[in-house]
Parts: sequence; C-alpha cells; structure tokens
Amino acid sequence: MSTAIYPGSFDPVTLGHQDIIYRSSKMVDCLIVGVLNNSSKKPLFTVEERMDMLREVTKDLPNVLIESFDGLLVDFAKQRKANIIVRGLRAIADFEYELQIAQTNRSICPEVDTIFLSTSLDYSFLSSSIVKEIACYGGRLDQFVAPYVEKKIQSKWRK
Ligand code: ADP
Repeated sequence: MSTAIYPGSFDPVTLGHQDIIYRSSKMVDCLIVGVLNNSSKKPLFTVEERMDMLREVTKDLPNVLIESFDGLLVDFAKQRKANIIVRGLRAIADFEYELQIAQTNRSICPEVDTIFLSTSLDYSFLSSSIVKEIACYGGRLDQFVAPYVEKKIQSKWRK
C-alpha cells in the first residue's frame, strides 16, 4: 500500500492546497495531510481549527486523512509508514527552499522521497498569507478558498 504525506501549515487551507490534495490523492492509496503544529509560526488558526477546515474540504476524498504532527517530518513519515512526501511548487521562488528541505530529509531518511507537483496556473500566486492579507482589508475570498473556510476566516476577523 502506498502512503504519502502532504505536510504544511494550512493556515488556512486554500484552493491551491486543495488542488494539490486532490491531484496527489489520485496517485497513492492513502494521502495523509499533515498539519504542522508549530507555535513559533504564530498561526491565525489553531491546529484543531486548521484540521477542521481540511476535513470539511476533503470530505469527498475517502483516501485522505487529516492529522497533525510536530517534530521532524521524516519521523512522522516513518511512524505512519509513508515513503512519499508531497510538496507543491508555485514558482522558482519556492524551488530553492523546497530543494534544500527535500535533500535534507533524504539525507536523514533515504527511504522517504519527496515528489513535487507544479501548481495549477489559476493558483500560482495564491498563498495562505495572501488570503489573510485580503481578509484583513475586508476583501472577497471566494476565488481563493472554499465557502466553509471563508466563513471561518470572517468569523475570526470579527472576533
Ligand atoms: P509551509 O508552511 O510548509 O510552506 P503551506 O501551508 O504554506 O505550508 O504550504 C504547504 C504546501 O503547499 C507547500 O508545499 C506549498 O508550496 C504548497 N502550496 C501552497 N500554496 C500553494 C498553491 N497556491 N498552489 C500549489 N501549492 C501550494
């Protein structure tokens, strides 16, 4: 059985993330979306909130599981018997950082390899940070996130 992990902050999940989840879930038996529990990044949403949004937007994908992790990604991968890490590449700017992380992970744990999916053109500019920036100025988010996520962002800003 092939198991892959798609790790990230997902603060919050965007349509760009959803596109990568959908496409990579077709390539493996089981895709685990790993939500990084990293307090140093000061996320807008708690891990539970981020997982809740991910569960909602992936509810029609039966082979996708949502889990959280902290510590080293390769340790989480080994624990879950996953030998593939999925990452999305938007632009050249992502490449240098992603290559460094992938090579580091491979040198720590050679049995876990990273595959990169190039972003769909519609989402190549999209990031969770841009979504939060637009939300903070009251802009519309419907072309960037799912309706459920948009509601959660709006209620967060209202608080
Ligand atoms: P991280 O903090 O690990 O970068 P993110 O949640 O920002 O976590 O991103 C998780 C993964 O999703 C990364 O591989 C990132 O390159 C990818 N990604 C983010 N936005 C998009 C997008 N619009 N299209 C495709 N991939 C994306």
